[in-house]
Parts: sequence; structure tokens; C-alpha cells
Amino acid sequence: MQYDLVILGAGPGGYVAAIRAAQLGARVSIIEKELVGGTCLNWGCIPTKAMYKSARLFEQIRQADHFGLSCTGAVAHLDKIISRNQKIVRELRQGVERLFRRHRVNLLFGEGRLRRHNEIEVTSSEHPPQQVCGRRIIIATGSEPKVLQILPWDNQRVFNTRSILELRQLPRSLFIIGGGVSGCEFAQIFRALGCEVHLSKRSREPIKSLDGDLNRALVRSLKKRRIILHLGDPPVAGRYTESGVEVTLQSGKAVCTEAVLVTVGRMPVSTGLGFRKVGLTLKNGFLPVDEHCQTNIPGIYAIGDVVGEHLLAHYASHQGIVAVEHALGNGKAVVDKHAVPAAIYTDPEIATVGLTSRQCQELGISYRQGNFPFRALGKAHALGEIDGFVKVIAAEEDGCILGVHIIGPEAGSLIGECTLALKQGATVEDVARTIHAHPTLNEAVWEAAEDVRGLAIHKLDLKL
Ligand code: FAD
Repeated sequence: MQYDLVILGAGPGGYVAAIRAAQLGARVSIIEKELVGGTCLNWGCIPTKAMYKSARLFEQIRQADHFGLSCTGAVAHLDKIISRNQKIVRELRQGVERLFRRHRVNLLFGEGRLRRHNEIEVTSSEHPPQQVCGRRIIIATGSEPKVLQILPWDNQRVFNTRSILELRQLPRSLFIIGGGVSGCEFAQIFRALGCEVHLSKRSREPIKSLDGDLNRALVRSLKKRRIILHLGDPPVAGRYTESGVEVTLQSGKAVCTEAVLVTVGRMPVSTGLGFRKVGLTLKNGFLPVDEHCQTNIPGIYAIGDVVGEHLLAHYASHQGIVAVEHALGNGKAVVDKHAVPAAIYTDPEIATVGLTSRQCQELGISYRQGNFPFRALGKAHALGEIDGFVKVIAAEEDGCILGVHIIGPEAGSLIGECTLALKQGATVEDVARTIHAHPTLNEAVWEAAEDVRGLAIHKLDLKL
């Protein structure tokens, strides 16, 4: 059968694209070699956030006294935490499959390989090879963890971000190689569950892309939780010992732990899939695309992690929608590269959108900034979560918001308002004159916008 659109990979890029295409009346086929929902749903965003909830709840239970409650004898059972994760993931996956059925998206399990500009061959142990043809193709094959040559994972003692989600018994100690977003998230989860955690990172900043003030606050929060940091001191060797793994750092220090988590980055899933053969241009394995997500071959689109612009689920979905609209004839559909939010589930949470102070300086943009601490908000006190702040960066010239950076409770949700403001070209005055409900955490966004104008009402001294 000839389809209007054939999509390779059913992660948050591919499956959202498939549903939108079907909504727009296209005949769609989607090919998936493993599990619908891809990395995000099965081994990324969702299971890690479910685990984060268990870890935080455990920590909060231990602080119950502070809320006037007595709770004793709390125990963390990693096997039950993992079973809960798997149940959530299974239900959500079934939900996506139901959506495919409702929208009459043809889901084909098997490994797809580009044969021609408009044809994918699908192989599987379940059925003979099939040729699937489409007027347009979208490649959404995602990414996979990078191997660390000095210490390849065995998934018994050395894990990657996927295999660690299968661990059933809490190790006494864990060495995390590579800070970054996943490294910091896992560090706090395992520490909260009671593990001794080491975290090493090549750079002195745990998450390089973050605004400097947030990185400093993040380091403070990691140290406060007694996570042992080895910043600017990457591993140079690793070996299995009788009781675990020994990691030797550049400084010569050797650390022995029961388990190691390697999280040194991701690489695109693009080899052996016929991409070069049909003439697609690859750059370090990634598929470069234009503003419509079209590759160098007209009619072949690429979205999500395999493109390598932002390795974020919501960006993959956004690109998926743009690619579909363009493929189905809307020439004006373009990707928004300006207002791309990111949320990081450390404790406190982090969320950011737009330019950092350093980026403004590098670009020669004159800016003003304001900030506001959560400890000055009634709602934060009621929640017992007063650490962190909101920082707003605005253009000196006209007060247009250039970036917002938050570390604090519910940062991931608070960034929604800021993303809309940035996208719509709002000024700090627009945000400041918008009524924010009381008592809410959003008041910190309002006050930080006011602070850019020197007019924050409840501002206390804030040491960033
Ligand atoms: P993927 O989700 O990787 O999906 C690609 C799909 O293609 C897979 O299902 C794969 O099986 C399939 N596939 C590959 N090759 C073939 C083939 N030849 N034939 C058929 N099928 C194929 N992002 C966030 O925004 N928020 C978070 O909180 C977050 N947390 C994360 C936590 C972890 C531990 C990790 C690892 C990632 C996290 N991410 C998060 C990143 C997010 O998971 C990815 O950005 C997102 O999944 C990318 O979507 P995608 O559709 O491009 O690729």
C-alpha cells in the first residue's frame, strides 16, 4: 500500500507526527523496532520522573517532623519502585497504541531501513521483509547512550541510563560518570534513596548549558545532599574489582563503588539504515535539517534526537508537527528555535528558556536582569520548599524578555508562562502587569520581572 507519510521510529517525535498527520487526513504508517513511545516513554523522561517522585517522597517522609507529622520506619524498596515505573510506562504505551488505532495509523513492528527516497524495507523475526512506500518520509530514529571506552557497561555493575532502570537492588554506593542533566537527576534520586553517590564531570560546571547562577545553586544543592563531587576531574581508567568497580580520576584519586552509571552523552541512531546510500547528508552521524525539518533530499524529513539540535522530547514533538504540516503542503510551517524550554528534575527542580547572561555577553546584547528568591513567597513556605530563585533577563533597550532561568519548586511548570512570554515577545512590564494568583509559586516570576525594573515588592537580599 502507498501511504501519504511513512515515519521511521515511534518515539515522541515519530508518534506525535503520526497522530497529527492522521488528524490532517493523511494515510500514515509508522515503523517501530522496539517499543512505542521510544526513549522518552520507556527509558527516559517518564520512568526517571516516576523514580524521582518515589525518591522525593521518601526524603519528605524523613522530614515529616517538620510538617508536624510522625512517620517512622520508612524503607525504600527499589524493586517496588521499579515495578511502579514499569506499570506507568506500560499504561502510557498502551495509551499511545490506542491513539494509533483511533486515528487509523498503521503501526508496523520491525526494523526499518531506507531503500529509496520513498521506500522503507521493514524486517522482523515475526514476518517476511515488507516494502512500505510513502509520498513523504519522516526519520525519527532517536539516539542511544554513548559508550565510555575506558569502562564499557556490563549491566551488572556498570550501567547506562537505560539498564539502570532495571536495577532491583539498591547499591550501597554509586559512581556517576558524566554530570549533565541525566547524571545530576540520577545522582539526586539514588542519594535520596540512601546510596552514597559520587559524581564526576569533565567541566567544573555540572550542566554546561545552564546559566552560571543556576549552576552555582545546583552545586550547592548537590553538596547539601552530600553528593561527592569530582568536578573538572574526569575518569581516566576503570576496572572491575571483587566487590565492585574502581574508577581512577585524572587527579590520580581512585574511588571504589559497588556500581557505576555511565552517562557521557548520546549518539544518533543513524548507521546501517541506508541513509548515506540514498544520498542523505550526515554530520557526525546526525541528520541536519532546514527550518521545515527537511533534509538535503526534498520529501525526506528528520526530527528529534537524530537531528541533534536539542535532545528533548517536546522539541522532537514540535519538530514532528512542523515536519508533518510542511510535508502535507503548509509551506509556512517552521520550527521555533527561539523559545525552547527545558526542565531538569533535580531537587530543587531547574527550568530554563532563552538566553543566559553569558550568551547575552557573547552576542554583545545589552541586558538587565532581575531575580527573586522563593524564600520570600508564602506559598513556598507552605510547601516547605524555599530554596532557589527565578532570574529574568531582559533587553536593556526595550525590556523584551530574553531568558528566564528558574531553580526552585515546580520550576518545570513555572517555565510555561515564561516560554509563552518569550515567544510572544513580551516585555518585563507585560509580565509585571499581569495579575498572578496568590498564593502561588508563579508570583516569583512576577516579582523577578518587577525586579528587572527595580520594583519587586517582597524582595529580600538574594545571594546567588
Ligand atoms: P526516541 O525517543 O529515541 O525514539 C526513537 C524510536 O525509533 C525508538 O522507539 C526506536 O526504537 C525507534 N527506531 C530506531 N531505529 C529504528 C529503525 N531502524 N526501525 C524502526 N524503529 C527504529 N527529554 C525531555 O524533554 N524531558 C526529560 O525529562 C527527559 N528525560 C530523559 C531522561 C533520560 C534518562 C534520557 C535518556 C532521556 C531523557 N530525555 C528527556 C530525552 C528524550 O527522551 C529524547 O529527547 C526523546 O526521546 C527523543 O525523541 P525521538 O522521538 O527523537 O527519539
